Amino acid sequence: MSVNFLEAISQIKDIKKMESTLPIARKVVNVVPLTVGDDLGLRTSITSPSGYDREIIKLLHKKVEFVQGETTYTEDYDKFCNEISNIDKITMLWALYKVTYETLGERKITCPKCKDNNDNPFVFRKEINILDLLHEDSLTLWEEELPFYEYIFPIKINYEDKIDFEFDTVIPSMSRYNQVLGMVSTGQLQQNLEKIGQVFTKPMQMSLLTKKIKLIINGEEIESSGLQEILIAFENHVPEIVSEKFYEEYNNKFNKYIPKFYDKVTCPNCGHQFNYDVDIELSFFRRTILSGESG
Ligand SMILES: [Zn+2]
Repeated sequence: MSVNFLEAISQIKDIKKMESTLPIARKVVNVVPLTVGDDLGLRTSITSPSGYDREIIKLLHKKVEFVQGETTYTEDYDKFCNEISNIDKITMLWALYKVTYETLGERKITCPKCKDNNDNPFVFRKEINILDLLHEDSLTLWEEELPFYEYIFPIKINYEDKIDFEFDTVIPSMSRYNQVLGMVSTGQLQQNLEKIGQVFTKPMQMSLLTKKIKLIINGEEIESSGLQEILIAFENHVPEIVSEKFYEEYNNKFNKYIPKFYDKVTCPNCGHQFNYDVDIELSFFRRTILSGESG
């Protein structure tokens, strides 16, 4: 093999790049397309949810260069995992999907308003372009002075005038997300998706968002920042009513940062206009692992 050939062909990666802003990390990146060999790691990693997620992070680390003024650089891997949020990961996947495939292909879309001749919900097909999923309200830039990975939003909740809970809540980094995902087996993940349509159960979700729990009982303080202990606390001890207040405050503060990728579609049968939501992670999984798309 000649070195010149390899030099020449390595320039392919410079032909097509997608510039994208990571909204939470507030950094600009270039993303280059997937190559033929890239799905190998992903395919061999699907034995566990966290294994697959780790391969996705490694893949993104390889496909993403950070832009600073006129120059670009590769981020240190640990910094990449700890100082880039899981929301940014979804944004990078969107950009990687865009630069590699351009389109999600044809999707089967069900109109929420009208029915067909057999009285079934009306279904139509539409090609979904990745760029059409991005709107003004899709991504919200991080607004705090501190970087997200140093920022803590404390939520204080009193329970029955007896106990004060103090939750130190965060926007999870990619490594935090992967750590919590490591507590989910493949079977459990499948169950969660079937039963609640989500990757995490509520206690897991709350553990993902909480870095530290402090209890104040009779003026005495006791706290934990161990993930296992936090999960056990949410699974077995934190009252449901406390979790409601927790989510109310957390969502008030952070919900605006959740990315919203959707296409504005019009039903060809009744003319009803509505938003068709797309789960980027799931679409990426289908395309790279299952090599296909379905509704
Ligand atoms: Zn319709």
